[in-house]
Amino acid sequence: MKRTAPGKFSGGFIFAPSTEKFKEKWKVKQSDVITFIPERVYVPMQQHIGAPAEAVVEVGDHVKAGDLIAEAGGFVSANTHATISGTVIDILDWPDNSGGEVPTIVIKKEENEVREAPEKIESFDNLDKDALVERVTEAGVVGMGGATFPTHVKLTVDDDVEVETIVLNGAECEPFLEADNLLMQVESAKVLTGARIAQKILGAKKVIVAIEDDKPDAIKKMEEAAADFSDVTVEKVRTSYPQGGEKQLLEGLLGVEVDLDGVPVDSGVYLMNVATSAAVADAVERKEPLINRFCTVTGDVQKKQTVSCPIGTLTGDLIDFCEGFVGDPRKIFVGGPMMGQSIDTLEVPITKSSNGLVVMNTEHAMYYEESPCIRCNLCAEVCPMRLEPQNLDLFYRAGEFKRCQDLMAEACINCGACTYVCPARRDLAKNITAAAAKIEELQEA
Ligand code: SF4
Ligand code: SF4
Repeated sequence: MKRTAPGKFSGGFIFAPSTEKFKEKWKVKQSDVITFIPERVYVPMQQHIGAPAEAVVEVGDHVKAGDLIAEAGGFVSANTHATISGTVIDILDWPDNSGGEVPTIVIKKEENEVREAPEKIESFDNLDKDALVERVTEAGVVGMGGATFPTHVKLTVDDDVEVETIVLNGAECEPFLEADNLLMQVESAKVLTGARIAQKILGAKKVIVAIEDDKPDAIKKMEEAAADFSDVTVEKVRTSYPQGGEKQLLEGLLGVEVDLDGVPVDSGVYLMNVATSAAVADAVERKEPLINRFCTVTGDVQKKQTVSCPIGTLTGDLIDFCEGFVGDPRKIFVGGPMMGQSIDTLEVPITKSSNGLVVMNTEHAMYYEESPCIRCNLCAEVCPMRLEPQNLDLFYRAGEFKRCQDLMAEACINCGACTYVCPARRDLAKNITAAAAKIEELQEA
């Protein structure tokens, strides 16, 4: 039976209390790993940008954690693996955090399942570039910071592209999320190894680990891991949202301005999230596919904690593991409150990119009616992409998509900062994202 959903809101919804006020209250202070393995997992075959994976198992098959269960449906796609050992009990369309349904493989855990962390079997030094990329491909690694772009594709750059620097993105800037912070503390060596693998593949001269300055424990651990390598440095970046956005990070860290329609590699920089980096290290040195991830569960839940769980764990099961809600839940985000996806069923599974669950109850998730723009310009002042959110919003509402295109709607990173500050409670980010989608649709037509 599907569990009931918190209320779904559109239009003028905004997170009412300031994140500053809740920073301490909802902060997850944790330095050890807490593991949860549910009775069943629901593993979507589309957790990445590109073609969905195609099932290679049938109902009734017995699988071991790490077995391939769905094969990449093309080059821009990703393999999908069993995340627990057990029996495939269903293959069906199931809700995901897009609001729709995707083909999903359901595995019921076998009794007394105990899985040891896999051992390192080989150093990446022994493998050439092609073998490294092949292992990343086999393991189904995708961008775990939210992008979900298949990592083997990102690592395959044209021969004429020179990559000078690998930047490891440890600027986990979304309010309340601590998954990457914990990972850098408990798996610092592994996180760094993934970056050094990318460095070898791309022939980069150096690695910079960028971490926000409010994460001293992660900085210390990563500095210790980097101490033996003269070409690796750990740099503190200012704690501010959206510092973790790739263009914002590169500007703050290196003074590199990436064109609005460009990507960091155009400037000789390859950017990788720290969780993706650890997954690359696992793929190469342990032949371990991407089947697990850290997810911070916080907000109006009884136990705020970062949990290591198999991909495919249902959000409802994870919240039960955190001892349930505080108050009456109204809004649940997969991801953070600024860029996360609001879900309307607790049956949505954790995917490769689900770094957090933020719950707001009826006291904290307020609904506002929007009012006319008062031309205060606050939205433009906070926009990290230097767009004009107020005008993009107006042109979108008027159906003037060409003018949205002229104002670079497609450069919006959907950070939500404009919506957050707007005194008229206008749902700017949502409309600008819709404008960008409409422009793309018109270009394809
Ligand atoms: S969501 Fe708003 S503030 Fe963020 S990039 Fe887009 S237009 Fe700018
Ligand atoms: S912040 Fe809101 S009210 Fe102010 S200019 Fe932007 S859209 Fe208009």
